[in-house]
Amino acid sequence: MERRNAWETYDEKQIGQLEAVCRRYRAYLDAGKTERECAAETIRLAKEAGYRSLSEAIEMGEKLKPGDKLYCDQMGKSVLLFVLGYEKLEKGMNIIGAHIDSPRMDIKQNPLYEDTDLAYLDTHYYGGIKKYQWVTLPLALHGVVAKKDGTVVHIVVGEKDDDPVFAVSDLLIHLAQDQMQKKASVVIEGEELNLLVGGKPVAGEEKDKVKAGVLAFLKEAYDIEEEDFLSAELEVVPAGRCRELGFDRSMLLGYGHDDRVCAFAQVEAMLGLEGVPERTSCCILADKEEIGSVGATGMQSRFFENSLAELMALCGEEGDLKLRRALKNSRMLSCDVSAGFDPNFASVFEKKNAAFLGRGVCFNKFTGARGKSGSNDANAEFLGRLRRTMDDAGVNFQTAELGKVDVGGGGTIAYICALYGMDVIDSGVPVLSMHAPWEIVNKADVYEAAKAYKAFLVD
Ligand code: MN
Ligand code: MN
Repeated sequence: MERRNAWETYDEKQIGQLEAVCRRYRAYLDAGKTERECAAETIRLAKEAGYRSLSEAIEMGEKLKPGDKLYCDQMGKSVLLFVLGYEKLEKGMNIIGAHIDSPRMDIKQNPLYEDTDLAYLDTHYYGGIKKYQWVTLPLALHGVVAKKDGTVVHIVVGEKDDDPVFAVSDLLIHLAQDQMQKKASVVIEGEELNLLVGGKPVAGEEKDKVKAGVLAFLKEAYDIEEEDFLSAELEVVPAGRCRELGFDRSMLLGYGHDDRVCAFAQVEAMLGLEGVPERTSCCILADKEEIGSVGATGMQSRFFENSLAELMALCGEEGDLKLRRALKNSRMLSCDVSAGFDPNFASVFEKKNAAFLGRGVCFNKFTGARGKSGSNDANAEFLGRLRRTMDDAGVNFQTAELGKVDVGGGGTIAYICALYGMDVIDSGVPVLSMHAPWEIVNKADVYEAAKAYKAFLVD
């Protein structure tokens, strides 16, 4: 039952393909360090590959036909891609779905303050993080400021070589006697995640001279005032690019592998489709998974269902019953990262049912916690079919659970799509240090995920 390391199966040609896929992945990850940037980059790539806007097609009342490629943009934070197949949509689609939001720190609505000659932006973290991991790192600021007049200012600071960066300080070890006795969950507390953004007073001000300097810079560089923070979405992420890891360059160290590695593998599979598929192919890139798939751009929102209804109407398949059938008759891979076995922390894994770096794309029949609670437990029949698909396509795959029974758990978007009565299973890339500022994946698993998703789409 033990799976082989995928690297041992490759010939030179496959290694070449793998490296090309991973070069594209690194570029995708560097271009999309927030859900907005990732959505924009995906749409850019889709347009290059001949995709057209669904909302434009709706406006024109266009009649759609097999082979048509469409993208759908939900508030710039979620994206759907479709390639229409020969079969009626009512018969179901092959769907791959991932999320493009990642854990980080968000800037509060009233964030800027000065304390003893230092200026800070106050943050509220997003998603599950170990707060102590986010101090003493070079950090970048990405996001938008929406002004009252309707203009939206895009901000990225900390990524270019000559950009400044930001940081959250930690207590020096010399004075940390008490701190070192604390539990890891409170070593750094949420309200201590204050981003240091200035340290130079400006002349001509009575008080808060450093803050005044920061505001003067923001006015000059972006034409924004302090009040404009009220309608901003600014995200603090680790500064820097995705890098190759190891003497053998077999791995990638990057921010946001969860879940942009699966998002990328999906986009790679989707844009790489040749010809017209039998069944319609659908790629979902959702926001807000890390905070429970909530909000208008999260998977629990109806945007997917609504967009599909629009699409079906343009294909001459209007009506609620047909929509329900299309959803029920679909098959889906919920593509999300899995916990990679970490020899440094072997005790939390059960080795027969763990995902190993380098052994290929991973299928999780269930996730959840404490007796599979909260998980989508995929059907054995569906898994049987997938085994055939993967073996026929020569995909290296493995199966896994998220750690030992009762040591923790987690969820994905799988259970939400399963509400429609479709077959869904979790499938993704094993990751080390998941949710840390810098996460680790193995290149072979990125390559196998892209192969797996393509095989699934054409099945
Ligand atoms: Mn995830
Ligand atoms: Mn996650």
